[in-house]
Amino acid sequence: MEAIKENIQAVLADLPQHVRLVAVSKFHPKEAIEAAYSAGHRIFGESRVQELQEKKPILPDDIEWHFIGHLQPNKVKYIAPYVSLIHAMDSEKLLREIDKQGKKVGRRIPCLLQVHVAKEETKFGFLPDELKHILSSCDWKSLSYAKISGMMCMATFTDDEEQIRQEFKTANSLFEEIKKAYFAEDADFCIKSWGMSDDYHIAIEEGSNMIRVGTRIFGARQY
Ligand SMILES: *Cc1c(COP(=O)(O)O)cnc(C)c1O
Repeated sequence: MEAIKENIQAVLADLPQHVRLVAVSKFHPKEAIEAAYSAGHRIFGESRVQELQEKKPILPDDIEWHFIGHLQPNKVKYIAPYVSLIHAMDSEKLLREIDKQGKKVGRRIPCLLQVHVAKEETKFGFLPDELKHILSSCDWKSLSYAKISGMMCMATFTDDEEQIRQEFKTANSLFEEIKKAYFAEDADFCIKSWGMSDDYHIAIEEGSNMIRVGTRIFGARQY
């Protein structure tokens, strides 16, 4: 657990000021989170609702929990009372459910448009055209409890750094385009969540201001 403290300090040490770190603690025990917490960190990311529900009550209250995984609409209700940011909003149905559950608990819940820029078939998210379509056609502006606050993406799992860079570039220019077209007056639309353990340096060079790092902090996950 001592290593976790050193690892997170090392990641934070060379992070530009405008970039926030989400420490991805999925599959790691409470003690691992406590180690990072004792280094002063407060933002943690989980990707399974049940795991988050188990961890939340046994860890300090001032932790900002981010939900980073694929989220089924019928599970939003469990995390709506406390989740700080939902990274992977990938359907209109999910957006409406976040709004509905936010309204029930009286919380405005920030979420990010997950955009599919990777070459892989398996990744969730809106294709660029779908994104523009949903933003032009759906009444998202009237959903006052689901607050669209930026964009999230994952690059292809590959060693090809140039490909990864191109995918982040695509995400970044899409962000600028969407911002200009739909959120020009909205200062809250500002989060660019891309970059993980193996590619966060490239991500930051390509505009990211929120990185989601697990392995580099907590070590390999045991599934
Ligand atoms: C697991 C996960 C991460 C962290 O990945 P590492 O390679 O361990 O840093 C980041 N983002 C998402 C969406 C994840 O599911």
